Amino acid sequence: MTIGSFYPPQRTLMGPGPSDIYPQVLQALSRPTIGHLDPKFIGMMDELKQLLQYAFQTKNTFTIAVSAPGSAGMEACFVNLVEPGDKVIVCRNGVFGDRMRENVERCGGKAVMVDNAWGEPVDPQLVEQALQANPDAKIVAFVHAETSTGALSDAKVLSELARRYDCLTIVDAVTSLGGVPLLVDEWQLDAVYSGSQKCLSCVPGLSPLTFSQRAVDKIQNRKTPVQSWFLDQSLVLGYWSGEGKRSYHHTAPVNSLYALHEALVLLQNEGLEKAWQRHRDAHLELREGLEKLGIEFVVDEACRLPQLNAVYIPDGVDDALIRQTLLERYNLEIGAGLGTLAGKAWRIGLMGYAARSENVALCLKALETTLK
Ligand SMILES: *Cc1c(COP(=O)(O)O)cnc(C)c1O
Repeated sequence: MTIGSFYPPQRTLMGPGPSDIYPQVLQALSRPTIGHLDPKFIGMMDELKQLLQYAFQTKNTFTIAVSAPGSAGMEACFVNLVEPGDKVIVCRNGVFGDRMRENVERCGGKAVMVDNAWGEPVDPQLVEQALQANPDAKIVAFVHAETSTGALSDAKVLSELARRYDCLTIVDAVTSLGGVPLLVDEWQLDAVYSGSQKCLSCVPGLSPLTFSQRAVDKIQNRKTPVQSWFLDQSLVLGYWSGEGKRSYHHTAPVNSLYALHEALVLLQNEGLEKAWQRHRDAHLELREGLEKLGIEFVVDEACRLPQLNAVYIPDGVDDALIRQTLLERYNLEIGAGLGTLAGKAWRIGLMGYAARSENVALCLKALETTLK
């Protein structure tokens, strides 16, 4: 048997990520590969840094894309900022907060958990209690947009609290970047990571990352070396900046970085405020249609993510069968529930390129016909 080329079906991706990719981004991917130390490539990386600074709304000089998916951005924050023995307040209101705990523990840190129910935002009062009870805590870690439930937490308030107790913040902005306001400098966030494949509508496999000066200082004053060679950001920095004398650290994913550059150019041309508004508009359209179908949201209106709509599966409906039918008949992917919401909820993503009326209409029509 000979195996031929692989041609994927043309799906519409409306799950928790990857999201539909902009056609211009797919085109950028197929441009000629050049050397990752080629002066032209370095020029592109300098632009990429500026575009990322715009997306994150920061002037942080340490603003890069980790050559690996969002999970690696998460790990990069923890392995660089947490030293053995460090106490970290970890907020958990879904799947990703629990992964933060794992990261802290694997770094030899002590995780102090602040728990909120799935579907609720992080409660600042509980965080403050934890900070009062643990005056030796060094970091507060939380997920801005919890993709497992569709809840948005108040990053500004949590950051103010952390600073009041002299803690750094580690913020998961994988699903928030490009979809809802995220103001890294104004909110004084310290270590913020994201992902390429959610609201940026780029290919999976890259993780935008930014560190404040306070975070960089903590890394530079570490007593122990970072246990991960690949994710040690003091080594990576020589490649991403190193003014004219960039040194080899690892081979950059050249074409994927073209794709990210293109996705960020599209975001810059649209403008952040317009992109946020587009996500809100698409969410309101979807909400109206779902309410007509009698489908209810998991998360309260006030802290609902426009780009990730977690909704309860109507009673008596076969979860797997419906999702399979959507995929086979409409080439439409929506997300299953995760963790405590498995089998109980669907997660409908309106991320990046998918946050459009056409997508909302397709999804509503497909759901309506299939549920009948
Ligand atoms: C998707 C996601 C991640 C992980 O990103 P990957 O690219 O899948 O590694 C982390 N945090 C949140 C909130 C996410 O939605």
